[in-house]
Amino acid sequence: MSLIQPFWFEQALKSVELPEIAKLNKNISADVCIVGGGYTGLWTAIKIKQQAPEQRVVLIEKGVCGQGASGRNGGCMLTFATKFQSLIRFFGLAEAIRLVQASEQAVDDIASFCQHNHIDAEVKVDGCIYTATNQPQARSLTQPIDLLSQHGINNWQQLSTEQVIKQSGSSANLAGIASHAGGSVHPGKLVLGLVKHALSIGIEIFQHTEYQDIQYGELAIIKTNAAKIIAKKVVFAINAWMGKHFKRFNRHITLVSSDMLITQPMPELLEDIGLVHGKAIADSRIFVHYYRTTQDGRLMLGKGGNMFAFNNRMLPAFEQPSQYRPMLEQAFTRFFPTLPNAVERTWTGASDRSTTGLPFFGSLSADNNVFYGLGYSGNGVVQSFLGGDILSSMALSLDNAWTQSPMAKGPLGRFPPEPIRYLGANLVKHSVLRKERAEDQGRSSLWLDRQMSKFAAAAGKADK
Ligand SMILES: Cc1cc2nc3c(=O)[nH]c(=O)nc-3n(C[C@H](O)[C@H](O)[C@H](O)COP(=O)(O)OP(=O)(O)OC[C@H]3O[C@@H](n4cnc5c(N)ncnc54)[C@H](O)[C@@H]3O)c2cc1C
Repeated sequence: MSLIQPFWFEQALKSVELPEIAKLNKNISADVCIVGGGYTGLWTAIKIKQQAPEQRVVLIEKGVCGQGASGRNGGCMLTFATKFQSLIRFFGLAEAIRLVQASEQAVDDIASFCQHNHIDAEVKVDGCIYTATNQPQARSLTQPIDLLSQHGINNWQQLSTEQVIKQSGSSANLAGIASHAGGSVHPGKLVLGLVKHALSIGIEIFQHTEYQDIQYGELAIIKTNAAKIIAKKVVFAINAWMGKHFKRFNRHITLVSSDMLITQPMPELLEDIGLVHGKAIADSRIFVHYYRTTQDGRLMLGKGGNMFAFNNRMLPAFEQPSQYRPMLEQAFTRFFPTLPNAVERTWTGASDRSTTGLPFFGSLSADNNVFYGLGYSGNGVVQSFLGGDILSSMALSLDNAWTQSPMAKGPLGRFPPEPIRYLGANLVKHSVLRKERAEDQGRSSLWLDRQMSKFAAAAGKADK
């Protein structure tokens, strides 16, 4: 269980009525057993049931569904478009184009899924903006547009300084690019809405039921803290906890915090600065600032990349109010000097950063019946919907673009072993901070800091 109730989750519980979801209390069998009750697990379960209603689909969650990243993220709906270059590099052009387009379509699909199934997740398909807050950021801002345009799939437009200030509500933003494919969502209402929908279509969910061990075989046996599940197919959707149970993943992801603040409601003040929409807005730092408004007139601002976990340990600090509150408040004041510093809450969460900055999916067993997906690298709200396509296709043994995708063939690249990774991550982090501070102040940064920052930038920007 979380030590704190993340803000969204608390709000969502007031409006989404859920039946009591029990702990597993006896051994059962299932066609598919899904481990993990976040977006990935829930979309996977729902997509399996949509395609094969006769399947017995069981989902187990160690605490309560949504207590991981899915119930505490920023709710910014961003696509793969700004990672086009990385997608081409790792998966080839055709697949990169397919994934960018699928992620843009997914924004609309999430909205229509919610509308069709009466999930009031406050989905706003109002678009997204990437901004530059200093000249070096501005120079690299249009790179994705050029590349996407070259291949005829560009949905971005460059904003004038006047437009970016108006649309982003902040004169700290000097330049910007905007796309209609993006927006925002209430993370807690989405995850609990998915739980409610999953239950309504016959998916069996057991909370406080923690996966402990697996016995591989044609029928896999999942041992939990409560009872056993014998399943034909198993899907691990446990995100930041994957490395705890499967050590091999510890070299493929690194856990890093994202820290967030949310203000008290101030709808009139937000209206005054033009923030009357649900656009997701992010700057072009390597460890990005991101913000958006909420339906109840608050402003949420987050920043990624503050705290790395040695050996991917799930630190108590990931469950607590942000240790970086002063840094968040400073950023808030820099972006919105006219708004009062009326912070209602701060919190933190762990993101699973992969070496490529892209998620990966794959099979764990020789019997090809145990699957996994993780590595969203802070961009998972939309991407986990696609994760559901990949993992449901794998669980149903389909032969389609998702099972054929190079993204479904396991992780690429490794981080160095500990303690080198931890030390290296912190060295890089401090170089990035120094480089970006110098750029903010119009100074030229140190050569060494620029070189070190390239390690963090290699996989593409805007990881929350
Ligand atoms: C603070 C923060 C802000 C973010 N902001 C954004 C954003 O604005 N936009 C965006 O696109 N992405 C954002 N992300 C990333 C996004 O939230 C995640 O990529 C996404 O929610 C991942 O969903 P998931 O289902 O894979 O993982 P999770 O939601 O973490 O779900 C995994 C679940 O598995 C459960 N579990 C773990 N171990 C076990 C076990 N042994 N047995 C049973 N269950 C287990 C956990 O309790 C958890 O509920 C953010 C992430 C964080 C942390």
